[in-house]
Amino acid sequence: MSMLSINPVTGQTIQFFPIWQADTIDTVLREVESAQVGWALLSVEQRAVYMRQLAGVFRQRRDDCAHLITDEMGKLLKEARAEIDKCAWGCDYFAEHASTYLADEIIVSDASRSLVVYQPLGTLLCIMPWNFPFWQLIRAAAPAMMAGNTVVLKHASNVPRCALALEEAFREAGFPANTFRTLMITANQAETVIADKRIAAVTLTGSNAAGRKVATIAGQHLKKCVLELGGSDPFIVLDDADLEFTAAQAVTARFQNMGQSCIAAKRFILVDAIADTFVQRFKMLTSELRSGDPKLETTTLAPMARADLRDILHAQVERSLAMGATLVTGGKLVGTEGAYYAPTILDQVRPGIPAFDEELFGPVAVMVRVKNAEEAIRLANQSPFGLGGSVWTRDVTRGEAIARQIQAGSVFVNGVVKSDPRLPFGGIKESGFGRELSYHGIREFVNIKTLWIG
Ligand code: NDP
Repeated sequence: MSMLSINPVTGQTIQFFPIWQADTIDTVLREVESAQVGWALLSVEQRAVYMRQLAGVFRQRRDDCAHLITDEMGKLLKEARAEIDKCAWGCDYFAEHASTYLADEIIVSDASRSLVVYQPLGTLLCIMPWNFPFWQLIRAAAPAMMAGNTVVLKHASNVPRCALALEEAFREAGFPANTFRTLMITANQAETVIADKRIAAVTLTGSNAAGRKVATIAGQHLKKCVLELGGSDPFIVLDDADLEFTAAQAVTARFQNMGQSCIAAKRFILVDAIADTFVQRFKMLTSELRSGDPKLETTTLAPMARADLRDILHAQVERSLAMGATLVTGGKLVGTEGAYYAPTILDQVRPGIPAFDEELFGPVAVMVRVKNAEEAIRLANQSPFGLGGSVWTRDVTRGEAIARQIQAGSVFVNGVVKSDPRLPFGGIKESGFGRELSYHGIREFVNIKTLWIG
């Protein structure tokens, strides 16, 4: 059995990698478990030295890493470069702030001294997706490792070269041997690794199906897990929004990374007063997107990461059209080679139609028309997901009041939802549980330990 690295621009196989046998997995888990003992003994400041060096490696190797991403999952090269920059930022951020986030906390009680200390759990298994193949891992690993955990990565099987490049980056940054390892394993093997006694906890970013499986196994073995799953973020446009600005932001929010982001705007909820104008502007801007080679500066629309994901998306569009959505533009494959899909707009979408009820993980914008802000809030919340959302209005007080009523882990007013190391990131409902980033994220994989001294 092997893992294939396939270029989604051409459909050609770049390289294949053998899947590890059980004895190799066993050896590596033993090595990582034993490396954790020494890693945990270092001070946070000592660990920060390595984390800053890793940021340096990302800055130095920015272009090589970005090309790897583009070759394996098709992202625009300029977006891939931005992803590597964000990794460097994330490493520096946790290098700088971990000592504050993990400092002992003195609490007055009946003891002569009582306090809370934050200690590592052990080895964390990170199960990661292909859509941001570097950032998703760094977002999880940088805080966890600053807290003294070691990490093993099970990456998505379509990005094996990125997975190995990540391990190489840690090595080049001088991290002690075996504090970070990539496992070349399948999803089935990952289920066995979750159960392994040398794994203390697991974090997954991916589909809801994978989330249910991982949570079930983690639950059976009583292991902490964090799940960052799908989303169907509402993008609410009120009657007083600046439509020119909002439509331009909306196009970015939907089509960046070829729409393959859990926090992409997926349901555009438009009050009737501005709906026609918004859809018209959005369509006009969408028509300016250009499909092509993701490495060219002039290309604004990349292929999707895999042909099978493109076909799933197309089937969702067809089912939605059959159930009453209307097609404004797109709705078809582009070219005969590669995983390209035309930027698509569906209008007149409502609950009960797949484009409303399911996550559309690709370049398909869904327009939902509502009478007023109250109906907008109601429909925004009528979703199994609760990851992100945004509200667009010139009245930021009203925007904040509405944002507070949206059932999601992050809601932005007049801004495109994004992850930021300073702010917690994660979802509610079927979008998962737990938080990444900020001090909330670094405290997910620690023993929050009480010391009571009489
Ligand atoms: P998956 O959720 O299947 O893959 C994500 C990661 O989970 C991969 O590393 C995968 O490994 C692993 N995985 C899958 N099943 C299991 C399991 N039972 N036990 C342990 N690990 C598992 O996503 P897909 O790539 O198949 O994409 C399908 C859909 O998932 C997308 O269309 C999108 O809706 C959603 N998705 C959401 C993401 C997000 O950011 N929230 C990111 C990516 C996808 P392997 O690749 O070997 O199967």
